[in-house]
Amino acid sequence: MTTPLPATRSETAFGDFKLPFAPGEAVAEATRCLFCHDAPCIAACPTAIDIPQFIRKIATGNDRGSAKTIFESNILGMSCARVCPVEVLCVGSCVYNDLDQPPIAIGRLQRHATDRAFAEGWTFFEAGPDTGRRVALVGGGPASLAAAHRLRRLGHACTILERGTTLGGLNSTGVAPYKMRADRSIEEIEWVLAIGGIEVRTGVEVGGQGPDDPSLEDLERDFDAVFVGAGLGADSALGVPGEDLLGVHGAVAWIESMKLGEVDLAGVERAVVVGGGNTAIDGVRELLGLGVASVTMLYRGTPERMSGYAHEWTAALADGARVEWRAIATDFEGTDRIERVRAARLDDARRPIDGGEFTLDADLVLLAIGQSKLGERLAALEGIALDRGRVAVDDGGATGRGGWYAGGDCVNGGKEVVNAVAEGDRAALAIDAWFAAGGGLRKGSGA
Ligand SMILES: Cc1cc2nc3c(=O)[nH]c(=O)nc-3n(C[C@H](O)[C@H](O)[C@H](O)COP(=O)(O)OP(=O)(O)OC[C@H]3O[C@@H](n4cnc5c(N)ncnc54)[C@H](O)[C@@H]3O)c2cc1C
Ligand code: SF4
Repeated sequence: MTTPLPATRSETAFGDFKLPFAPGEAVAEATRCLFCHDAPCIAACPTAIDIPQFIRKIATGNDRGSAKTIFESNILGMSCARVCPVEVLCVGSCVYNDLDQPPIAIGRLQRHATDRAFAEGWTFFEAGPDTGRRVALVGGGPASLAAAHRLRRLGHACTILERGTTLGGLNSTGVAPYKMRADRSIEEIEWVLAIGGIEVRTGVEVGGQGPDDPSLEDLERDFDAVFVGAGLGADSALGVPGEDLLGVHGAVAWIESMKLGEVDLAGVERAVVVGGGNTAIDGVRELLGLGVASVTMLYRGTPERMSGYAHEWTAALADGARVEWRAIATDFEGTDRIERVRAARLDDARRPIDGGEFTLDADLVLLAIGQSKLGERLAALEGIALDRGRVAVDDGGATGRGGWYAGGDCVNGGKEVVNAVAEGDRAALAIDAWFAAGGGLRKGSGA
């Protein structure tokens, strides 16, 4: 199903940044929870996990019940316990913040319960009675995995079509290893697929040119509904001279090669990361963690305007990150490999300041300025509309073409794993409702 991961991959150099609770600590933390009515932490969670309920179960020693509560709303609850930016979601909205006391460590409590479920081999869900319906899921990332699991619980057969060799999308190939390594994501996926009835085809690109690549029309012919969870595309380029020099990489591509394989950093002492989002911050921290002595983030805006989370940037500074605010890269120079980055300082209106040019020596550059949108291919189908490259859907994830649904990064433009899970789950329920109302792409299919 998924190509085994090499034991020597670079990401194994990292340990956990946020440590799990020691025995006894989880119960002590759980008993601090006020079990609020109309709990703001639930409202802040895109998958609306019943947080006070799962915490109460930990407090009463019922870890199994707690894990079930979590997975009922979020089938990737083990990943999300590690990778969610809880500081701006559930933990950030905990009422304790207004009482000037430490908020409840919801992520660590979720990790306590879900890790226990994996350690004990607990399973909670079974496939529903077979409905005769078949759903294709384009991409094997969090959105499709969540949709497929929910569809199986409702009795619909599922086929995941993934162009890569690894399932999990960016949750396996992109998430910083000090939050979660790829093997942990794969372990979770195997647990999700254990429900049975989810066929997985890797190495096939929907709409691709390969002999085994299905076309969009093939999916319409062979399945009753299609869920598109294709995520985003390749790293965006700056379009400045020297971008093709050796040692200049798209950040998402480089992070994938670091997580799934080995990156060669021999002789790399100074690195520059261009961008100010979370991928840029991850790149900075990963390079520092792998031993690069000097890593500088080059960002065109100010600290207040950066899209990367403040708590992540604080952690990067503690790791030793350097930064050049209000600056853009204008040129990459070197004879064969990258040797230096030419940059220009910007004014408030982001115009280059006269005399503001400077250079940074660099043996490696990561470009973290965004990813392309993949929607164009889909828009070839009548009825499917795009909104600035994103697939346009209604609240249930339905596109304007009957039987075609979408969710995750390809719809929201790039958010978090928990958003992809929520949107995949929601679309699965909408597909089920559509079937119940008599919908179905294959003629004569269904119950
Ligand atoms: C560097 C980086 C770090 C991140 N860190 C975090 C984090 O710490 N916490 C967090 O919550 N979120 C993080 N995210 C965001 C999170 O990973 C994504 O929001 C989430 O994975 C989106 O899920 P998805 O299923 O929509 O898309 P993806 O995860 O991108 O999965 C889409 C899948 O579809 C496949 N695919 C695409 N086109 C086709 C096709 N035509 N045919 C077949 N298969 C196709 C792709 O190969 C891919 O496997 C990070 C993102 C990046 C880039
Ligand atoms: S807001 Fe905080 S105290 Fe209230 S239920 Fe949620 S975690 Fe518990």
